Amino acid sequence: MALFVEIETPNLKYEQPLGLFINNEFVKGVEGRTFNTINPHNEQIIASVCEGTEKDIDIAVIAAREALNGPWRKLPSVDRGKLVLKLADLFERDVNVLANIEATDNGKTVAMAAFDVMGSAATLRYYGGWADKIFGQTIDIDENSHTYTRHEPIGVCGQIIPWNFPILMLAWKIGPALATGNTVVLKPAEQTPLSALYVAKLIVEAGFPPGVVNIVNGFGTVAGAAISSHMYIGCGSERALESRPKWEMLTLATADKVAFTGSTAVGREIMAAAAKSNLKKVTLELGGKSPNIVFPDANLDNALSWVNFGIYYNHGQACSAGSRILVHQDIYEEFLSRFRERAKLNKVGSPFAPDTFQGPQISKTQFDRIMRYIEEGKADGAKLETGGARLGDAGYYIQPTIFSNVDESMSIVREEIFGPVCTVQSFKDEDEAIRLANNSAYGLASAVHTMNANIATRVANRLQAGTVWINNYAMVHQQMPFGGYKQSGNGRELGAYALDNYTQVKTVRQYLGDAIFG
Ligand code: NAD
Repeated sequence: MALFVEIETPNLKYEQPLGLFINNEFVKGVEGRTFNTINPHNEQIIASVCEGTEKDIDIAVIAAREALNGPWRKLPSVDRGKLVLKLADLFERDVNVLANIEATDNGKTVAMAAFDVMGSAATLRYYGGWADKIFGQTIDIDENSHTYTRHEPIGVCGQIIPWNFPILMLAWKIGPALATGNTVVLKPAEQTPLSALYVAKLIVEAGFPPGVVNIVNGFGTVAGAAISSHMYIGCGSERALESRPKWEMLTLATADKVAFTGSTAVGREIMAAAAKSNLKKVTLELGGKSPNIVFPDANLDNALSWVNFGIYYNHGQACSAGSRILVHQDIYEEFLSRFRERAKLNKVGSPFAPDTFQGPQISKTQFDRIMRYIEEGKADGAKLETGGARLGDAGYYIQPTIFSNVDESMSIVREEIFGPVCTVQSFKDEDEAIRLANNSAYGLASAVHTMNANIATRVANRLQAGTVWINNYAMVHQQMPFGGYKQSGNGRELGAYALDNYTQVKTVRQYLGDAIFG
């Protein structure tokens, strides 16, 4: 198969790489497998890309290890930072191409995709700036000691990302990893393999040494599982094995960390696989069922806009989606009727139409899953306020959907649907709002809408969630840490906190005395 193909979107033509990206080269997988990626707007095949298996993960991990022990370790931190900053510049330069790729492969609108690309550039730039500001402490113990800490890279980091924000998740993962001196083997989601491969070209252009970033597309249960369970599997290429004894391969070709974003179910598997292999470090950013709470003194126009955006942006395919809307009983009826009308105004359609707000769901699997939840909600006795049906004959389009008359026993209230579906419940006072909001296995995000600063802060303090938005929703920023309480994960991405995910602390104590010990 060809390793590059010309792809034409409604706006432009570009050259799309199709290979695995290892050691700064595009190559075929050892087993020569390929898989198709589908355009969710029209259900047509966009391209067939190379599929990586365990053997390719071995080769990529060895490449990453050799880069780590070689040129990457020797590079002064300021130069490491310059490479990450250069990559940010290239993201901005190619924002149109990258946005078109995302719109085609993922189905999000070109405008939202461009927003993701610019957010990715900002994330890379933020971490590029950190590269020469990583430092430990000196610790004063006594006159005869010199004690200090170093914040060293963890090593070879496996990174597994989802399909809902392909390019943004890539930037959230590689930004802090590279700034702190790690090397990377990244596996994009099988539904959206294209933008990461285009980024691979930019990595070469930016001037990263070979092996620092490797990108292996493939399936979760094959390439993904190989990363999380990775411990030299022993079936790498002839080249990688050449003249190397097996005992050496165990440290050379074993990943040190896995960072994952995706479903809680897979997060569990990844943690178990890491535990069973080499106890590699694990950070997880998982699902959510986030509450969005509206008090009667909120600015209702504003709250409605944020609630609508909070659930329907990215077609409901966001881990932080505000899918449980809790409204004070005094404004419940008015809010519900206005929200119903607001949701109907959301334009659902082609990612390339300028007025589209909501594009198609990512895949047939996700489409069917969401429709199953809608049927379950109806069967459980919830009231369908609006939506609930497919739109059109081709493409995975679903109407913005609202359920009322729900309770906490229903799956549509408890489980992450990951689509344009939300529930609206009423509460009588602050305590009941908090009880409903916190009654979830998840704890990723939350929001409170009120003009009363005391209520806002009290509620923010009591919500069990990694992020609380007050009078806004989903406003993520590269300077703000993001991550989950409870089963929404561990570790924090973004902000200075993410540097902890990618560094380990070494303590050095030097004895300065001349006396003989003992
Ligand atoms: P998923 O968790 O199965 O996939 C996410 C990533 O993990 C992909 O790259 C996939 O290839 C990989 N993966 C899958 N199984 C693996 C395994 N056993 N070992 C290692 N890697 C593995 O997500 P999905 O199936 O595409 O979507 C299902 C649900 O996951 C969604 O409905 C949603 O609830 C949730 N999800 C959450 C997020 C998020 O940002 N938190 C993103 C995507 C999906």
